[in-house]
Amino acid sequence: MNTNQQKIAVFPGSFDPITKGHVDLVNRASQVFDKIYVAIGINSQKKYLFSLEERLNWLQDVFANNEKVAIGHFEGLTVNYCKEVNAHFLLRGLRNASDFDYEKTISQLNSIIGDNVETVFLISKPAYSHISSTIVREIIKGNGDVSAFVPSTISEELNTKPS
Ligand code: ADP
Repeated sequence: MNTNQQKIAVFPGSFDPITKGHVDLVNRASQVFDKIYVAIGINSQKKYLFSLEERLNWLQDVFANNEKVAIGHFEGLTVNYCKEVNAHFLLRGLRNASDFDYEKTISQLNSIIGDNVETVFLISKPAYSHISSTIVREIIKGNGDVSAFVPSTISEELNTKPS
C-alpha cells in the first residue's frame, strides 16, 4: 500500500440501533483514519427491530457533524464493500473476551479473502463496554428507558412514538 494513500476504514455492523458505544468508537477512530464508512451490512436471513431506512437516518443524524464519516449499506461480503469504497481497513470494537474470540476469526478470514484488508480494533471505554444493541432492543421491547445507552436523537424519537 502506498503510504501517502488516504487511510479509509469501513465500520460494518447492524446498528439495530446505533448505541453510545458505537458512537464513541467512531469518534475515537476519527483521529486515526482519514475517512470512515459506517455501513449497515444487510443479512437477508436476519430479523431486525428497526428498518434499514430508520437505521440509516439515525446514522446520518448522529454523524452529521463528523466530516470524516460517510454512511452506507451493503449486501454480501464486507470485504467486497471495502473494495467498492477503496478501504484497506476494517474497524471493529472489543468489549470483552467473547468479542475477541469472535472477531479474531472473522478478522483472519477477512484478511485472506479481502486481499490483506487489515482489521483495526479499539477497546471499548469502560463506560460503554456493557452496552450492546441486543440489550437495547430488549429494553425497548419492554418499554424501558434507553436514554443512557443510545444517542439522544434516538431516545427522543422513541419516547414520542406510541408503544
Ligand atoms: P454486528 O451485527 O456485526 O454485531 P453491531 O452493530 O452489534 O454489529 O456491532 C458492530 C461493531 O461495534 C462490533 O465490532 C462490535 O464489537 C462493536 N460494538 C458494539 N457495541 C459496542 C460498545 N458498546 N463499545 C464498543 N464497541 C461496540
